[in-house]
Amino acid sequence: MFPSVFSGGVIGKAVQRGRLDLRVHNLRDFTTDKHQQVDDRPFGGEEGMVFKPEPVFAAVEAVRGSADTPVYLLSPAGRRFDDGLAREIALRPRIVLICGRYEGVDERIALNLATDEISIGDFVVTGGELPAMIIVDAVARHIPGVVGKEGSVRKESFADGLLDHPQYTRPREYRGMTVPEVLFSGDHDKIEAWRRRKALEKTRRRRPDLFARLSLSPEDRMLLDEIDNERNEK
Ligand code: SAM
Repeated sequence: MFPSVFSGGVIGKAVQRGRLDLRVHNLRDFTTDKHQQVDDRPFGGEEGMVFKPEPVFAAVEAVRGSADTPVYLLSPAGRRFDDGLAREIALRPRIVLICGRYEGVDERIALNLATDEISIGDFVVTGGELPAMIIVDAVARHIPGVVGKEGSVRKESFADGLLDHPQYTRPREYRGMTVPEVLFSGDHDKIEAWRRRKALEKTRRRRPDLFARLSLSPEDRMLLDEIDNERNEK
């Protein structure tokens, strides 16, 4: 699954340029039995299969390198992944991600091997591969030199605690839908103020949880007052 996602695009280029080194390991290569068994039935009698501890411990110990390398187990029960965690992880020179499957992994892996458990959201997918790819992609974008113009990461959603402002491109009018006039004004201060205002407005409306954590500048408060006054006038 991994080469199909990571051989192209921004991540593929970062790998080619040596900014990122991604390695995928097959747990079966770390088994010692003839059948290369990586899973077994859960004790206590339940449906499904669970990853056995031996191949997972052996795999992680073989690839971890240093005892300081964080080992993240992908799990719906983990810490919720977000941009803050992506930035934190991006500071690490090396990380290990453990992808579960079936019913998950033997709890001893979670308790004694993983340094953290990470969830990509309150839903369950069939395996840890897609969550791992999402984490790799989101983390890699915070590694210098991975995304072409670093400014484009700095300005994106969550970078400053806000959702991104709306973007428009040609044509100027499509099916009667027009682009806000301010974007053609050539006045960069005005355009920046409009963008900030839109980002504040969108974040307050859609993500009150993010909005509540913002430290608003006096200019932000003025922009929000403007929005409220215009709404009251309507
Ligand atoms: N029995 C587990 C439970 O209810 O929590 C779900 C196992 S799930 C079918 C199989 C694997 O997919 C998990 O071990 C985990 O690695 C991965 N996975 C599923 N949902 C995930 C999520 N929201 N975040 C991170 N990993 C997830």
